[in-house]
Amino acid sequence: MKNVLCGLLIVLGLAVNAHNDKYQFYLDLNKISSDLIQVKLTTPTISSDKIIYNMPKIVPGTYKIYDFGQYAMDFEAFNKDGKPLSVNKLDKNRWEIENATTLAEISYWVEDTWDANVDELVFEPGGTNIEKGENVVLNNHGFFGYFDGMKYAKYEVNVTRPDDFYGSTGLSTIKTTGNIDQFTTDNYMDLVDSPIMYNVPDTTTFKIGNADILISVYSKNKSATALELSKDIKEILELQKDYLGGTLPVDKYAFIIYLYAGASGSGGSGALEHSYSSFYYLPEMSAEQLSGFVVRVAAHEFFHIVTPLNIHSKEIGDFDFISPKMSKHLWMYEGVTEYFAGHVQVYGGMKTPKEYLELIEEKLVGAAFFKDELAFTELSLQCLGEHEDQYSNVYLKGAIIGMCLDILLRDQSGGKIGIKDMMAMLSKEYGKYKSFEDVELFDKIAELSSPEIREFFTKYVEAGNELPLADLLNRVGVTFKKDVKVKEVGLGGVSLDLNPETNRLYIADMSNMNEFGKALGYKINDEFVAINGVEINMDSVQEQMNNFKKNTKNGDKVEIIVARTQKGKTKNKKLKAKAITIEKNKKYLIELNENITKEQLELRNAWLGQE
Ligand SMILES: [Zn+2]
Repeated sequence: MKNVLCGLLIVLGLAVNAHNDKYQFYLDLNKISSDLIQVKLTTPTISSDKIIYNMPKIVPGTYKIYDFGQYAMDFEAFNKDGKPLSVNKLDKNRWEIENATTLAEISYWVEDTWDANVDELVFEPGGTNIEKGENVVLNNHGFFGYFDGMKYAKYEVNVTRPDDFYGSTGLSTIKTTGNIDQFTTDNYMDLVDSPIMYNVPDTTTFKIGNADILISVYSKNKSATALELSKDIKEILELQKDYLGGTLPVDKYAFIIYLYAGASGSGGSGALEHSYSSFYYLPEMSAEQLSGFVVRVAAHEFFHIVTPLNIHSKEIGDFDFISPKMSKHLWMYEGVTEYFAGHVQVYGGMKTPKEYLELIEEKLVGAAFFKDELAFTELSLQCLGEHEDQYSNVYLKGAIIGMCLDILLRDQSGGKIGIKDMMAMLSKEYGKYKSFEDVELFDKIAELSSPEIREFFTKYVEAGNELPLADLLNRVGVTFKKDVKVKEVGLGGVSLDLNPETNRLYIADMSNMNEFGKALGYKINDEFVAINGVEINMDSVQEQMNNFKKNTKNGDKVEIIVARTQKGKTKNKKLKAKAITIEKNKKYLIELNENITKEQLELRNAWLGQE
């Protein structure tokens, strides 16, 4: 028996030598020259005369065409003897190699996207960074490609790194020998799904349920540490775990956070989701200042492990990196995810119901800037094309659609089943490796719930009818009003602008100043320093203003400190007046109704997770 086994091993060994069935990539982070890194690939065996090597035109989660092939240059292909093979560049992202059966190696140089000289910069969380000795962000689709028909072969990525660097990733399949890290994945999709950030590490780990959570932070000026940011993330993750039924559907998850100094290259900041990690590109600020933002973004990205990562259509499951086809279900992938990220906060007790309804108002105010009559399925299908400018509505109206469904589902199940339970049912039905057909999803959800849900999709998601918010919110004892007059304390009817030099708001226009403003005695260009003893902090100014409006009644004493410049000298000046409420038009007013039936109250409590 022993001999037979040995014999088999020898045969297998020979077979492996003759036929290589995996991609073996090599990168050396010690050999960076002018922001370029050389990529070397020992290719899997190719069985056709010609073969096309692809870099992605687009990657999942970004909903934008980026042409990652444009960052690869000096592309060369070689046979086993090191002789060059002829290569035709077909377009920005594809190279055709001749005599491919003899192909053994490919090499090319990659430039990072973050500071590239292109018309439209890649949104950083989906791009690549090469800063010698400082930081390298391997969003793997920016470095590595695949051959036609061979997306499902195994991948091995070997990274030689500076001795003091660490590679943070959600991948668990890592082997380290000396200063070489070897990452392996089962296919190209999983490689693209797993960004790796290299730098001198600042990491911390903890457990949520059974999952190992890694927080990794890069901040050039050390504005915030992994340990500091982990406090907020831990708190929201605990709530998310409970929200998802008590366990997290992953064993390991990494929050990879790059804090940028100065201005954002692309003008944006945010994050991109993956199955076992999410990558964040946020401004350098103290952990305290980043806190609310990190919680909101982390909650959203983490909830993506529900959808699209575990509930998705074929368009996403078998993603076409070159000719992408969009799914019509962005209302779910982004909308329901965003709804969860807000709803978990009230459901878990981090926000009061009243605060939560204000969040809904904000979403509606934002959504009003987009085309309400555009069917959401249509927006979704054409989000790379004619409806590109409507895309951001997925986070606004998309989240409101999620809320409507949640209420409808609760209403029909006597409060027992909400949309999070529906999503749990769907992820059992489908899953990471089982996609649904784009056309079948609405019927499937109706089958698991009721025909009224199907009707909702037909009217409000597949067509652009105005959402029945008054009716639905009334079922949970919440009043919904449009265009109402409310009396509110403001800042006196002056228009504000930001002075970038002092980082303060100043009075830019006084032409609509009201009695309260006059009583305070503002002067043009006054800069706001503090209101009622609370210093104004630009990172939370919106919240501070909301609190001021909420907590100030007609006749209350108000004290505002402004910095006023006169004759070249700037001095702080105290302005005092009694608050005067001014009638204002409010686009949406959503309030808890206390005069409701027992059924309404029970349904509301079920919806918002109240005792
Ligand atoms: Zn998202």
